[in-house]
Amino acid sequence: MYVPKLNCTFIPENFPNLDSESIYLCIKNNELLIDSKTNNLVFLTKEEKKWSGMDASTSHFLGMLDDKLCYVEDLSKDSALLENTILQNMMSLLGRIPDNLFGLCSRAIQLSEWYRNNQYCSKCGSKMKKHPTETAMECEKKDSLVYPRISPCIIVLVTKQDKILLAHNKNFPGKLYSTLAGFIEAGETVEEAIHREIYEEVNIKITNLSYFGSQSWPFPSQLMLGFHAEYLSGDLKADNKEIDIVKWFNYRSLPETPSARISISGKLIESYVSKMYLNKLPAFR
Ligand SMILES: [Zn+2]
Repeated sequence: MYVPKLNCTFIPENFPNLDSESIYLCIKNNELLIDSKTNNLVFLTKEEKKWSGMDASTSHFLGMLDDKLCYVEDLSKDSALLENTILQNMMSLLGRIPDNLFGLCSRAIQLSEWYRNNQYCSKCGSKMKKHPTETAMECEKKDSLVYPRISPCIIVLVTKQDKILLAHNKNFPGKLYSTLAGFIEAGETVEEAIHREIYEEVNIKITNLSYFGSQSWPFPSQLMLGFHAEYLSGDLKADNKEIDIVKWFNYRSLPETPSARISISGKLIESYVSKMYLNKLPAFR
């Protein structure tokens, strides 16, 4: 079994273009194969895969994990599992798999699901097959080409000097509060989506948007685009559809929020809070 080092690098690529050893991550029903003793992701060599007793319906190239060609094997419904392995869903692995392998797992799950869901053309009903030179499914009658679907979303931390705006979503467990987020609608710019979502969800206007970073979020196919923004005007009011509570919190006394190790929401909060602490330090004399 191949065990990537903690400082491993994963570079997504569409086609293998050098001759190197291949390794295989395995999934079944969108759950990842894990070593039940070490809790590590299982990467099999070609030989191990051959003798594993597992049966894969398809395989997709993901990119380079260090100097290895990395593939995902989508195990068939009835496939047995290798001894001493278990399946775990990606959500339960958040914070436990290193950041550099998060992108790899996210890509593995999304490509496998895209392939499974696009076996027939939605225009003419004919069989689809993989395009020879692009990551796309092509109808055998050549009337449609389907790329893996990615749904862009905005996620925004709104602040007002010492205070940060956090909301409790109706679907969140317990007292977890997070930043505001939403899907970008057809025809919208990212900026328009941010202003609309914040106004729809909590009834305020914002200003001074600044881009922070992004995160692939495969539940099922979001790309989260993270922003900081400042309060401009309006009275805070939860929409009561998605958000049931929204409040300003002083950066020194925050409620339970997502971990910065897991999500971009946590990273946005952490970055603002540490900036505030730094600003409040007495000047060095
Ligand atoms: Zn067709």
